[in-house]
Amino acid sequence: MTEKKHALLSASGSSRWMQCPPSVRLEETVEEENSEYAKEGTFAHALAELHINYYLGNLKKTQFNKELKKLKQDSFYSKELMEYVQIYVDFAIEKINEARASTKDAVTMVEMKFDYSSWVPEGFGTGDLVLITDAVLEIVDLKFGQGVPVSAIGNTQMRLYALGAIQQFECLYDISTVKMTIVQPRLDNISTDEIAVEELLKWAEEEVKPKAELAIKGEGEFKSGQHCRFCRVRHTCRVRAEENMKLAALEFKEAVLLTDEEIVEVLKGIDELQKYASDIKEYAFNKAINEGKRWEGFKIVEGRSIRKYVDEAAVAKALIEAGFEEDKIYAKSLLTITAMEKAIGKNKFKELLKDLVEKPSGKPVLVPEEDKRPEINNTAEADFKEE
Ligand code: SF4
Repeated sequence: MTEKKHALLSASGSSRWMQCPPSVRLEETVEEENSEYAKEGTFAHALAELHINYYLGNLKKTQFNKELKKLKQDSFYSKELMEYVQIYVDFAIEKINEARASTKDAVTMVEMKFDYSSWVPEGFGTGDLVLITDAVLEIVDLKFGQGVPVSAIGNTQMRLYALGAIQQFECLYDISTVKMTIVQPRLDNISTDEIAVEELLKWAEEEVKPKAELAIKGEGEFKSGQHCRFCRVRHTCRVRAEENMKLAALEFKEAVLLTDEEIVEVLKGIDELQKYASDIKEYAFNKAINEGKRWEGFKIVEGRSIRKYVDEAAVAKALIEAGFEEDKIYAKSLLTITAMEKAIGKNKFKELLKDLVEKPSGKPVLVPEEDKRPEINNTAEADFKEE
């Protein structure tokens, strides 16, 4: 979902303002970033909306073609982008058909504006796809980014949209359950959560409302954590800095080597510290490059670069004229999987190569226990136990 015009207490920022209510007013001191990724996401939503509306019969063919032609001229349009959008469109159509099969007069809404201001002052947002069948309300959300997979489980953004939909439709329908699905086509991620309306309303009254009241007044406690990553003041926020600097200030025991407990202490904070460090580097660099800011003790230099041919055709010509064979100077290799998918199209790729592509197990990574991925058997420990 995209909030075309952002609410101050936006649903997409809710994980942040619910954990750190005063961040809302502090953010107003810094200009909103409108990244290329965000613009691309808005474009992908427009493309998806057009296709779904056409499927629903809300547009005539001539109108659809005219709009599509316009969108195809946009610099964000590409065959690859359209293929990812199509994954979402196909999923949405499947959901629409399922809803119609279960209830003849199922309600379908595309890009629908929600108002959740009963719990959050001036709270509104836009739902990508909303379906109402009997007692079930279903919300589907397209997320076009390719950063990290987002889970729908307990997702505050999805829940706020669900509240908006409940507020709007409770007098018309007897909704008892809400289903919320996030589709991230570029990450092959589809995540669904379900909640009873009664439980959702309890959460809204007990958790959302008090936090929103603090946030709108700029009150409450600052709290840093993963939610800082999308906060506009993340570079200069003192609470975040102090939290991350605690790791550097840890007081260890006198012994020469760290104990296991001390290593665990360092591990706990290291991901956030790394993210914080790169945010600070990016912030200082951008200020220096874009605004000519001089940071005492630092300077801008030329980074490392690698050699490259000035003109590949001229290089080949020179070598062939010098008597070198073509197979000596050219390397022949298959395109990478991503490049191949792009070159021949996702559908052809699937049709021709589905049995010839494998996904080996990922390299083990050490993550905090709360991580949603299941634990794998530690081979060294397992081998040891078997002996
Ligand atoms: S950076 Fe983090 S701690 Fe600071 S205001 Fe933003 S969310 Fe709160």
